[in-house]
Amino acid sequence: MRSDHSHSMKLVILGRDGTLNRYRHDHVKSIEELEPLPGALEAVARLNQAGWHTVMATNQAGIGRGLLDMASLNAIHIRLNQLLVEKGGRLDAAFFCPHTPEEGCSCRKPLPGLLLQIGERFGVQLASVHMVGASLGDLQTAQAAGCMPHLIRSDRLGPLDDAQLAELVAQVPGTKVHASLSAFAEQLIQQERRAKADARGEAQALNTGPGDLT
Ligand SMILES: [Zn+2]
Repeated sequence: MRSDHSHSMKLVILGRDGTLNRYRHDHVKSIEELEPLPGALEAVARLNQAGWHTVMATNQAGIGRGLLDMASLNAIHIRLNQLLVEKGGRLDAAFFCPHTPEEGCSCRKPLPGLLLQIGERFGVQLASVHMVGASLGDLQTAQAAGCMPHLIRSDRLGPLDDAQLAELVAQVPGTKVHASLSAFAEQLIQQERRAKADARGEAQALNTGPGDLT
């Protein structure tokens, strides 16, 4: 579905591990190992209800390493969507890179391949897209694709103190840090509300003069 007003589609790209579900160093290999982070699915639902489309972009090198097969990955993503539906949310799509670093593909984050594919599929300007992830690699991916970078401070980052976090974030200028996906969602929704109110205020000021506050 292509829209002539595609630039106005509100899209958030989400990483998976450490953003939506708990990161596992040994990969999420089965439905049983899929553990949503507290409030993360509700946050997606909040975004959806506020008119934001949500698409997932995830590296799944476990496929390339033979730790899980495509059927298992599909089952995990179907399960994730079922859990989301229970909360009133949904992902429009799940884009993934199945390759190992050694394969030298163009879709493994931090290369921007997955995000470019998403931009093309949904006909959106990537500069208007928020990319939320849980690692430096996600931030670098956002930067490479020209998206707005956001970092969730989850366990995936390891035990970083504030100085170390600041150092990491400084590598990708413009990064915003959030305690959780819920915090990101709330901030984005509030920010949009304020922008709309400001726009209304300006329109009113132009129409009726600054003295009229109604
Ligand atoms: Zn790839």
